Amino acid sequence: MKKILVCGAGGFIGGHLVKALLDLGHKVGAVDKKPVEAWCQLHDAAESRTLDLQLRDACAEAVRGYDEVYNLAADMGGMGFIENNKALCMLSVLINTHLLVAARDCGAGRFFFSSSACVYNADKQKSADVTPLTEADAYPAMPEDGYGWEKLFSERMCRHFDEDFGVVARVARYHNVYGPHGTYDGGREKAPAAICRKVIEAVRTGRHEIEIWGDGSQTRSFTYIDDCIKGTLLLMGGDCAEPLNIGSSELVSINGLVGIVEEIAGVKLARKYNPGAPKGVNGRNSDNTRIKSLFGWEPSTRLRDGMEQTYRWIYDEMMRAGREGKASRVNLH
Ligand code: NAD
Repeated sequence: MKKILVCGAGGFIGGHLVKALLDLGHKVGAVDKKPVEAWCQLHDAAESRTLDLQLRDACAEAVRGYDEVYNLAADMGGMGFIENNKALCMLSVLINTHLLVAARDCGAGRFFFSSSACVYNADKQKSADVTPLTEADAYPAMPEDGYGWEKLFSERMCRHFDEDFGVVARVARYHNVYGPHGTYDGGREKAPAAICRKVIEAVRTGRHEIEIWGDGSQTRSFTYIDDCIKGTLLLMGGDCAEPLNIGSSELVSINGLVGIVEEIAGVKLARKYNPGAPKGVNGRNSDNTRIKSLFGWEPSTRLRDGMEQTYRWIYDEMMRAGREGKASRVNLH
């Protein structure tokens, strides 16, 4: 049993990670900037605290007494958010920097940083017909403006804290994580949750149409939350000091993803394309050669299965919110 701190524990992935670590029998501390009533999940067995981890003193207070630190705290959201809030995204550099300093000063044994596929060189993502990205494709550096630059810089910071100060740092590059207990409205939601919400709204209102950002031909792979958590725990426990992809390699276009959700919901919707909306790179997939060679494992949840779980959860949440007559989700970032 270890004493483990999860930063960003009020968010989507952090909430699932706290649960997984508790299930493994660890003593878990959970920290987020949001008041606990706005957390995606609140686990009674964890010690949950509200702290703003952009502040150095708060990081020192948060980390004290813990053996390991997972940093999942970041000011972020889907394409709509990161394209319009580049400075806010870059300010997350304060969180990772202060947490690394605190981990070094407190002698924490291991440190995890949640990086992103947004670090990859944009030139390698121009076509929807993709070559999956290997870890080396982050260089020469030309990441997503704002959000991606912060992630790439923070990856390097982890590497040098490891080399120079002996903070054993592990870095995952997550590829589009989705699943229950995530944000599905309010402006920070990502494509899988947004599409589920739009389809549910169409079913409920009888207005059988859906707005799609871009022309829908852009491709991605989407990683189910259970795979994300399993990969995170493997990586943190392993010997790989380099950043590692944690991503599904099941490629789908946004049009294809809408088709999957229509099938789950049992509807067919008229598609209204919005070419001016943020749509990100044209194509991206995860090359999993490295993670397979290290751990004999890669994310394997079929998109159709993961989306079914996600759709059901969002549907139930929206119905509950409707019954209770309030906004479907508190969003207090
Ligand atoms: P999320 O937005 O649901 O969770 C992030 C949490 O960090 C939020 O609860 C937020 O309140 C908290 N936070 C923000 N600023 C903070 C601060 N100053 N102090 C304390 N807490 C603060 O996001 P998520 O989807 O759970 O992502 C977790 C991590 O994984 C993030 O670093 C994100 O960039 C990374 N990531 C996620 C995805 C994905 O598809 N979800 C993909 C790539 C990388």
